Amino acid sequence: MSYSRRDFLSHLSLGLGSVVALPGLTMLDNTKRLSSAAGLAELPESEKLGVALVGLGRYATGQIAPALQETTLCRLAGIVTGTPRKEEEWGRKYDLPESNIYNYETYDQIADNDDIDIIYVVLPNSMHAEYSIRAAEAGKHVICEKPMATSARDCQRMIDASQKAGRKLSIGYRLHFEPHNKEMMRLGRSEVLGNAEQMSGTHSFPLNDPGAWRLDKELAGGGPLMDVGIYVIQAGLYTMGQLPTSVMAWDETQNPENFPEVEGTIRWELNFPKDAVLYGESSYEDRGNNFRLEATNGWAELSPAYSYSGIRGDTSEEPMDFPQVNQQALQMDDFARCILEDDRTIVPGEMGKRDMIIMEAIYESAETGREVSLDFDKEEGYIRPLAE
Ligand code: NDP
Repeated sequence: MSYSRRDFLSHLSLGLGSVVALPGLTMLDNTKRLSSAAGLAELPESEKLGVALVGLGRYATGQIAPALQETTLCRLAGIVTGTPRKEEEWGRKYDLPESNIYNYETYDQIADNDDIDIIYVVLPNSMHAEYSIRAAEAGKHVICEKPMATSARDCQRMIDASQKAGRKLSIGYRLHFEPHNKEMMRLGRSEVLGNAEQMSGTHSFPLNDPGAWRLDKELAGGGPLMDVGIYVIQAGLYTMGQLPTSVMAWDETQNPENFPEVEGTIRWELNFPKDAVLYGESSYEDRGNNFRLEATNGWAELSPAYSYSGIRGDTSEEPMDFPQVNQQALQMDDFARCILEDDRTIVPGEMGKRDMIIMEAIYESAETGREVSLDFDKEEGYIRPLAE
C-alpha cells in the first residue's frame, strides 16, 4: 500500500483511528505517538511539513526564515507578502516555486496548495486575528506571533476558527524551548529553592522611530507591554506554574509627547496565590532584559532573560550551565511534531488568550488606578505542564 505523508496527515486531522503504513515506518496505529516526545528523526526534505510565512519583516527575515533552514520536521515552503520586491528576493534566495508565493489579495488561495501545511503569521499585532482565522479557514495549521491578537475577544475567535477547522493553533512563545528559561520553570515550580515569594522582571528597549507601527495603536494594540512586557508576564506564569489572582498597574511614561497613542513605560504588580507577587516593567524609553525569582531558601536569575541567544542564568546554589539553542527552530519543530503525532502544543492559543486577559487587566488598572481581579475560567486558565 502506498501512503503519502499528506494522506497520513489528513487521517490524523480527521481523527480516524485507522491503521496506516508510512514510508519508512512499519504499521502504526495513528492514535499512538510515532516516537518519544524527545523528538522525531529528521524527515527527508520532501516529507517535511511546509511552512508559509505571512509578513516578511524583521523577525521573519532575521530569525524565522534562517531557523527554518535548521528545522528537521518542517521547511520554508511559501511566503505571503505585500511587497513585490520581496517576492522576487525570497523566491530566489529560498528557491520557492512561483506557485507558493502569495500576496494579501491572493492569500486565501493557499487553501488549494497542498505543499503548505502551516501558516506562520508574522504581521503587525492587529492583523494576527484576521490572518490566523483565514489560515484556519483555508484548512491550515497556524503559528501566530505574540501578542496573539489585540483583544481577548479576537483570541477567542482565533481559537474557535482553528477548532472549527480541526486544525492546530500555537503562539510563537519561543522561550518555552530555551534551556535557561526551562530551568527557571523547574526551579520555581519544584520548590528546589523553597516557596516562590517574589519575582521581578524588566523587558524594555528604546524605540525612537515615530513612524513605527509599534507606536500606532490601531496596528499594535498597545505599547511595550504588548510587545515585550508580555515576556515578563510569561516568565512569571511559567515560573510560578499558577494563575495570577489580581493586578495593579501604573503608566509611568516619562515623555508622553513621544507616545501619543501607546504607553511609553508601564509597571505592574501581578499577585499570585499565597502572597507571591511579580513586579514587572516594560518600556520603549529605557533598556532592560532580566528576570529574578526570590524563594524562601534561595534565588535564581536570568540576565539577559529573553534574547534570541546569549541567555545566562545564575542561582544561589550554582550558575546555570546550559547550551544556547535555536529557539525558533525548536519551537517550529515541536509544532510540526504535534501535528505529526496529533499531540497538544505546549504553547496553544489558550495560552495566548490567557496572556491577553492579563494585559487587558493591566491596562484597565493603569487607566482606572484600581486593582483589577483576575478570575479565569477553566479553559482560559491554561498553564504549561512542567514535564514537557
Ligand atoms: P516588521 O515591521 O519588521 O514587519 C512586519 C511586516 O508585516 C512588514 O515587513 C510587512 O511585510 C507586513 N505588513 C503588512 N501590513 C503592514 C502594515 N500595515 N504595517 C507594517 N507592516 C505590515 O515587524 P516585526 O517583524 O518586528 O514583527 C512582526 C510580528 O512579530 C509582531 O507581531 C511582533 O510582535 C512579532 N515578533 C516576535 C518576536 C519574537 O521574538 N517572538 C520578535 C519580533 C517580532 P511585507 O512587506 O512582506 O508585506
